[in-house]
Amino acid sequence: MEVEIQLTGQPIAPSLPPAAEPGHVGAWTEFRGLVRGEENGQPIRALEYEAYPEMAGRELRRSLEELSSRHPCLRARVIHRVGLVPVGEAAIYVGIASAHRAEGLALLAAFMERLKQDVPIWKRRALPLAAADASPRTSPANPVSADSRRRLPAVRSLDEALADIRARCSPLPPERVSLAEAFGRVLRETVCAPEDLPSFDRSAVDGYAIRRDDAAIRFRVVDCLRAGDWKPRALQAGEAVRIATGAALPGNGLQVVMQEDAQGEGDVVRILRRSDARHIRCRGEDLRQGQPLVRAGLRLDAGALALLASVGHAEPLVSPRLRVLHLTTGDEIVPPDQTPKPGQIRDSNSILIGSLLRGWPCDVEHRHLPEEFEVAWDALDAAGVAGMDLLLVSGGASVGERDFTRALLERLGFEIVFRQIKARPGKPTIFGVNGRRVAFGLPGNPLAHFVCFHLEVATALARLLGAAEAPQFLRGQLAVELRDEPCPRETPWPARLEWSGTAPRLRPLAWSSSGDLTCLADANALVRVPAQCEVLDPGADVEFLPVIPLAASLSA
Ligand code: AMP
Ligand code: MG
Repeated sequence: MEVEIQLTGQPIAPSLPPAAEPGHVGAWTEFRGLVRGEENGQPIRALEYEAYPEMAGRELRRSLEELSSRHPCLRARVIHRVGLVPVGEAAIYVGIASAHRAEGLALLAAFMERLKQDVPIWKRRALPLAAADASPRTSPANPVSADSRRRLPAVRSLDEALADIRARCSPLPPERVSLAEAFGRVLRETVCAPEDLPSFDRSAVDGYAIRRDDAAIRFRVVDCLRAGDWKPRALQAGEAVRIATGAALPGNGLQVVMQEDAQGEGDVVRILRRSDARHIRCRGEDLRQGQPLVRAGLRLDAGALALLASVGHAEPLVSPRLRVLHLTTGDEIVPPDQTPKPGQIRDSNSILIGSLLRGWPCDVEHRHLPEEFEVAWDALDAAGVAGMDLLLVSGGASVGERDFTRALLERLGFEIVFRQIKARPGKPTIFGVNGRRVAFGLPGNPLAHFVCFHLEVATALARLLGAAEAPQFLRGQLAVELRDEPCPRETPWPARLEWSGTAPRLRPLAWSSSGDLTCLADANALVRVPAQCEVLDPGADVEFLPVIPLAASLSA
């Protein structure tokens, strides 16, 4: 199918000729998306669209080409307007030439659906009916205040926040990779046994194969079979074959007498001890052909990879490696190898996130942004950000004068799903989505950063990868009493998990504030302390999340 894409700042012509030669074309399906005079219940006079033109063009083309394999058409023309589009004018035009109307209509519907998810074109802002055309890019000091304080999205409980994340993140398209590249990826297909396992009867020991119905003591050794040999033969009474561990049995109705229970003398073997044990790994005894071997959604570890290798599933369909960008903010932050001037502090969040992400299949980039929003915006390569699956912004997630994370995410086209969680540490946590891309504004305080990673970010990671298991709370017992000032928010409390006795036991660690990371050398779990809780007794039944990297991040 031929595809023509245009991104334009100009109005789209009111009538356009079919983009195909007459003759083959039986249908010319046209669609125009017009700007309505209302956005989020408010009257508006225009919408402003922004795009990363090169990427948008590429994505539009890719979507159409992909969809045309299901809905074969002849030509497609897409014109998307960017910049200010007044009410009543077309923001998008799609024309599709096809042999029959059914394919044209189907492709159009599928494409418009896809447009919502994949393409880096977004509504930057709506211009209210009466307001002057003031651009937030040139407005003073805090870019957040003008827009976002007016219509702050809801605050979430921790459970609601996690449910939102699960609902709004979807698995990224899988890819096939070699087994060597597949470690840590999530399997995205259920792999069934392609044949019986084992696929042939083989000896479990070194010894002598004889007929089970042959009660003799002395046997004539008629052959010697090594692992890898394939020499079917019908053993006669009085005959034995010497056989190595793993070698294929020469026929049915046999048993193998262990070498330790026999004495070989030239071509003859004498059986010293005989039992009913066959010492054979029988065909299909592990699994029958067609039975599930490894299920979709499993994180591939060493054992699962070995299993796939054993059945020749050498290019499994797995989650892609995620592209993650971690942006630090704050002019007070200096790298760990520098001595902070008075008032400055060292960046601990970059190494924290970099290390935590080692447990996940991803490529991480770290960058630092200046404190002033417009300077930060100019320093940020917006097109580069658009290529990221996950954006994590450290700090600036609150509503202070210089906290710009929310404005940054909005300008990057993210829809803000929530901006606060009723938990401590970790209250100012922003979650946004833009198509398949996901962003978090995480509180800069290191302990909060740690907690938010394990709760919210890990939940998003598991979803993006298509993992069957999201981080899950388990039940355990407190090892000692936990005392606290009552707090209206629940607390994911850093703790030390000990596997002694029958139940996991949790020792709460001391921490003074969300900036206190002194407990992080010992923390390997987060205990859920309910809101308003003053004391939990030793032995109290609690919910906790293990936060030991890799092993615990995905599985219960
Ligand atoms: P913010 O969320 O920007 O208000 O920052 C909250 C606190 O976290 C402030 O005390 C910051 O100095 C601190 N902070 C911000 N970024 C980092 C970082 N990368 N490493 C350590 N502390 C940080
Ligand atoms: Mg800050």
